[in-house]
Amino acid sequence: MEKNKKINKKKSIKLEKIFCAGGEDGDGDGHPKVYLSIGEKEKSISCPYCGNVFTKSS
Ligand SMILES: [Zn+2]
Repeated sequence: MEKNKKINKKKSIKLEKIFCAGGEDGDGDGHPKVYLSIGEKEKSISCPYCGNVFTKSS
């Protein structure tokens, strides 16, 4: 009973600590892996290297 579901891929994360290495899903060859943390009062953070924006899911 499995049907293909269209899942929207969003850069939404539950943890407040994420890392980015550039490229798609942080697995590219853009830049050295850097860890980013979203503050309590912030909802998103952008990577200073490549500009990827990570949004914290509430
Ligand atoms: Zn990045």
